[in-house]
Amino acid sequence: MTKFIPSNIPRANDSAPAESHPVPCWISFGGNVGDVHATFDAALKLLGGQSQLQLGRRSGIYRTVPMGAQAGQSFLNSVCELITSLSPHVLLSVLQSVENQLGRIRDVRWGPRTLDLDLLNYGQQIIDEPDLVVPHPALTYRRFVLDPLVEVDAHWLHPACSLSAAELLGRLEHRPLRVALVDVPRSQVEQLTRPLALKFPDLQWIDDSPQSAEVLPIQLNSSSSFSRRAVVDLRRSPGDPLEQLTAAFTSIFDRPQRISAW
Ligand code: AMP
Repeated sequence: MTKFIPSNIPRANDSAPAESHPVPCWISFGGNVGDVHATFDAALKLLGGQSQLQLGRRSGIYRTVPMGAQAGQSFLNSVCELITSLSPHVLLSVLQSVENQLGRIRDVRWGPRTLDLDLLNYGQQIIDEPDLVVPHPALTYRRFVLDPLVEVDAHWLHPACSLSAAELLGRLEHRPLRVALVDVPRSQVEQLTRPLALKFPDLQWIDDSPQSAEVLPIQLNSSSSFSRRAVVDLRRSPGDPLEQLTAAFTSIFDRPQRISAW
């Protein structure tokens, strides 16, 4: 088999420190252009041919709603485990190189795509850098990530908020869904909640600072410091607050359908 050697990867710092053990990571796969299942297979082949990287468990394939007005037709999503001694940044470069080789064009934000690969976690490490955030900040509210993850690793523990994958998913399934904006002044809350109430009738907005585990706290402002309770962290999500919330609720209220084994 031809070894896949991404050309744009830094060579000097190719792996985690020599004494480190291989680290288990979850990767999410998504796409909605072309033969997506075949693209997932091709991506897996490229990843499997990479040194210092072993393929692990993987979920079935799910059909999910597109997120964002310009996202196109429905998506297919899945998750796959990688066990690697590559450093987190080199692993991210490998994922981006695979996306590029398989025809990913980054033009429209939340636009149609042949392949999207996200690094969901890197063991129990927490990384918050401009080009890499781990655990992936959106995994706590994206059903297209959580449903497949729960299928294969329901007990996976989020390193920052210490909730399992099954608990994170369970939080999204309450109806009505009780949510609170933790860092938006009251005067602005109504401007945001009114248009969302029409589109998402199962939402119930809670005014006070959410103490209850039944309330899903949402953090919007990039200037506020991270709150571990704020499992829905939209600080890095693109767009204005209404777009950020619309995208998040689209994903929260989705009901991904498992359509096949991988
Ligand atoms: P996207 O176009 O949605 O795949 O986003 C890719 C951008 O997100 C790249 O610029 C990455 O550097 C950045 N990024 C930050 N954290 C992650 C992560 N955990 N997994 C994948 N991309 C990430």
